[in-house]
Amino acid sequence: MPELPEVETMRRGVAPVIGSQIEKAERPPCKCRPILMQPRIDAFDRRVQGKTIAEIGRRGKRVMITLDDAQVIVIEPRMTGLVLLADPPGEQHLRLRLHLSGGPSEQLLFWDRRGLGTVRLLRPSEIKTVVDDKLGIDALQISVQQLRDALGQSRREIKVALLDQSAVAGIGNLYAAEILFVAGVDPRARCDKLTGPQWIRIQSAIGIVLHDAIKHEGSTLSDGTYRNALNKSGGYQNYHRVYDRAQTMCRRCREGEIQRIVQAQRCTFFCPKCQRKSGLHESVDLL
Ligand SMILES: [Zn+2]
Repeated sequence: MPELPEVETMRRGVAPVIGSQIEKAERPPCKCRPILMQPRIDAFDRRVQGKTIAEIGRRGKRVMITLDDAQVIVIEPRMTGLVLLADPPGEQHLRLRLHLSGGPSEQLLFWDRRGLGTVRLLRPSEIKTVVDDKLGIDALQISVQQLRDALGQSRREIKVALLDQSAVAGIGNLYAAEILFVAGVDPRARCDKLTGPQWIRIQSAIGIVLHDAIKHEGSTLSDGTYRNALNKSGGYQNYHRVYDRAQTMCRRCREGEIQRIVQAQRCTFFCPKCQRKSGLHESVDLL
């Protein structure tokens, strides 16, 4: 958390500052352990001062801010990071402030309570090794064939494999569980045992779940950390089908009880009636 839908919501929320000029980059005083920032703030400031924000994109779970000289500020929120234009949840965890002019907002902020997020300023020549080589195709763009090429030979369980950012970029623990429920696939099924129709269902479910979550501006969990760029909660937590619903009745079949298991140290939620390893069960509607 945050995953692709939350980071995409952040990207859309700060997109109005495209065209703004960066007056100064500042690291607000913070008593917490500093976040990883490259280069250090003085060099960072020197390199971005006077530059215009040309584009704000997303790569997997990273916000990519491209400047008019082709340098890119890569912000990875990791566990609790937020990219905002105003109203951070608290001043004490503010990690970076870009003072802006010539646009609708005077600042762009990176806030991070736990401080596991990272901010990197990259030259065009560094993008390939620092970003592209580490990430698979974006989850919103991957085709069935590309998904099979990336994971089809793997002996890992499908739920664990979907979290591998070098295979497919953007899916994390929460959405992997939701995706496999919508696809009707058991999270413990081994990738190399999945059938062609199951891969088709998984790829369709990726699109359905992620687009739906973006429409609701992501999920704000009980810790309340994730906010959109205007500091409002997301709404998709109200639509979760299995995530954090252990021991409740499945909303789809109204028979199965949602199970919570642990895979590779992460919790997984699924319905044993709707999600079977064989894929041989009453067809699950892809909505
Ligand atoms: Zn069910």
